[in-house]
Amino acid sequence: MNFQDFNLSDEITRALDGLGYSAPTEVQEKVLPAALKRQDLAVKSQTGSGKTASFGIPICELVKWEENKPQALILTPTRELADQVKEDITNIGRFKRIKAAAVYGKHPFNYQKEELKQKCHVVVGTPGRVMDHIERGTLVLGKIEYLVLDEADEMLNMGFIEQVEAIINKLPKQRMTMLFSATLSKNIEQLCRKYMIEPKHIEI
Ligand code: AMP
Repeated sequence: MNFQDFNLSDEITRALDGLGYSAPTEVQEKVLPAALKRQDLAVKSQTGSGKTASFGIPICELVKWEENKPQALILTPTRELADQVKEDITNIGRFKRIKAAAVYGKHPFNYQKEELKQKCHVVVGTPGRVMDHIERGTLVLGKIEYLVLDEADEMLNMGFIEQVEAIINKLPKQRMTMLFSATLSKNIEQLCRKYMIEPKHIEI
């Protein structure tokens, strides 16, 4: 299989070529067809499997460049992962000029506030700081159509569940939700049942 099989736009295909991604990894092969159709997904996969691009490619493909308000929100357990995801999205969306912002704690709020004021298609962040921005009105959620819970098991382990649920409850109901986790425990399954519509389960 190769990336041409997914009917991606030229901008995205060119970016993948530039990154040296010649063929999709297993998780990408399974996630891309469903994600491009905006199906809710619960994916069991490990770091290193290419999972970031498996949600980054559909998000870059599906967001509308013209829209000025954020259309995708990606929650991560750590600052490092938020930065990494932002970088990957920026690389994949390079030729479509997709803008991503990362927001997380222990980093100046006002700097992030300015970043969010600019045109920004994708926001990546840790739950606490994302909630801060929502409460202070610096992150507007009205146009969010895509939600990713990345390393969901880690977010639960780190005690972020209440914040994650509070954020989800503020999002538009008309959206696509993708969850990625190394394990699909009972708590994760519960989260899927509560916030997803007939999610497709994918195990790598
Ligand atoms: P991840 O699991 O998202 O952390 O990705 C692990 C590594 O695989 C990252 O360095 C990616 O840049 C790389 N990668 C992702 N997809 C592909 C692909 N289709 N071909 C080659 N490398 C990839």
